[in-house]
Amino acid sequence: MKVVKKTIEVQIKDKDFKLFISESEIQTEISKLAAKINNDYAGKDVIFLGVLNGAFMFVADLLKNINLECEVSFIKVSSYKGTSTTGNVHELIGLVSSLKDKHVLIVEDIVDTGLTLDKIYSMIDHDEPNSLEVVSLLYKPDSFKGNHPPKYFGFSIPNKFVVGYGLDYMEQGRNTSAIYKLIE
Ligand code: 5GP
Repeated sequence: MKVVKKTIEVQIKDKDFKLFISESEIQTEISKLAAKINNDYAGKDVIFLGVLNGAFMFVADLLKNINLECEVSFIKVSSYKGTSTTGNVHELIGLVSSLKDKHVLIVEDIVDTGLTLDKIYSMIDHDEPNSLEVVSLLYKPDSFKGNHPPKYFGFSIPNKFVVGYGLDYMEQGRNTSAIYKLIE
């Protein structure tokens, strides 16, 4: 018999984290999100724009469940140091193809204050896309103070620091299949 060992606690640098959202919960929610998107965007000219680094795993798993004719690209901003948002958003890099008249779906790992998204929105809106929406795996509504809440999100979570499945603590801990919450 094969014994499947589940990691229920991880240590990253000086912090300990406990299991918060399992791999199977994540994958189930992703297939539901993809089904909604497949339905809403059928027949449209769609481009998925993953926000690096955190969204790389979510983009990969989401797109395996998307059956639209679509483009996939990545952009990068940086705004976060350690375990609290700094509010500073730097330059947007990586946008190569024109977004004019396309249906753009920004793919985020997590929407916290929403300030990063506001900045991305204002930069992308210049390209006159046909529509611009956000799909985020995680959403922290209690700390949200932006203008663009995600149209699609997998999990609404409390205002706690989480890692794993693409999300980092000091650039580490991204390489797990589940999501872990900081033990305070
Ligand atoms: P914002 O506050 O602008 O919505 O979020 C900015 C960025 O902060 C997110 O894209 C994400 O990279 C990071 N972030 C926000 N909350 C968390 C969290 O709980 N854990 C980790 N690892 N990153 C977070």
